[in-house]
Amino acid sequence: MRFGIMLWLLILVIAMPAGASLWEPDPGFLPEDGRRAVPNDASPPERTVPRFTLPSLPEEHEGTIRRVAIREKKVALTFDLCELATITTGYDAAIIDFLRQRQIPATLFLGGKWMRSHRMRAMQLMADPLFEIGNHAWSHGNFGIMNERSMLEQIRWTQAEYERLREEILAQAVDDGRSVTLPESMVLFRLPYGRCSDAALKVLAREGLEVVQWDVAAETSGDNAIPGLGKLVADQVQPGSILLFHANSVPRGSAALLTETVDILIRRGYQFVTVGELLKLGEPRRTREGYFNRPGDNLNLDHQFGPDGTGRR
Ligand SMILES: [Zn+2]
Repeated sequence: MRFGIMLWLLILVIAMPAGASLWEPDPGFLPEDGRRAVPNDASPPERTVPRFTLPSLPEEHEGTIRRVAIREKKVALTFDLCELATITTGYDAAIIDFLRQRQIPATLFLGGKWMRSHRMRAMQLMADPLFEIGNHAWSHGNFGIMNERSMLEQIRWTQAEYERLREEILAQAVDDGRSVTLPESMVLFRLPYGRCSDAALKVLAREGLEVVQWDVAAETSGDNAIPGLGKLVADQVQPGSILLFHANSVPRGSAALLTETVDILIRRGYQFVTVGELLKLGEPRRTREGYFNRPGDNLNLDHQFGPDGTGRR
């Protein structure tokens, strides 16, 4: 009898397609959400050229946005979901579930290869009006050391992958009788490793992408689930701040850090908006250098992830 119940449970679990609904994403952790849980595929994407091209940005938009100068207590939470050419990363369900449960808008910077390896999760995020989606390169190429051809691949392959998933979402919406509107392309870009060069800024502006970094790098490289860390992060926040987190299950304890930080900021009267919304409220503060907390603090990363930053040797 007990065996019979277990068999039924097993059949039920197998019959329920994991993450199958675009409109009601599965909360909680699925086995494929784990870091390195899905097999790696280092091949180029099926579509390498985007169909939509953005108009180039004016010269004064060249640079990296660190924060926006405003008086209102509004800030943008941003999350990177990226992976190298050589490995797959995960999906931090605790973070995304928290944002959805509390209805906190956020901007998610997705790597193109991550979108392909986490196809259903990527489409669920794109289809959720709570989130704004930005381009975070194909396989985390380092824009401080790559040549122009590689930079264009990293940018355009990701734009093209977004378009493919967008088409699939819209087709699914038609089948399900839903009305869904999604931006034709991503207009924001985040530099992997925060690294860039003059040439990279020119290429990105020509491709029509605003480069959005952060003024508050929230996570540490250790365990982020340490009580008190959220206060240290919140103390760095000012009106118009852009906070950097990850939601790809690479840094440890990010969900706990996020919860603590958000609760403190709410108590201090802050509200959360997407980067796109923040940019409508005031003047962005740009720099020409890409870094974590101060210029030059990420140069050591140029030598750790292969000749182009993607992990390939
Ligand atoms: Zn990244």
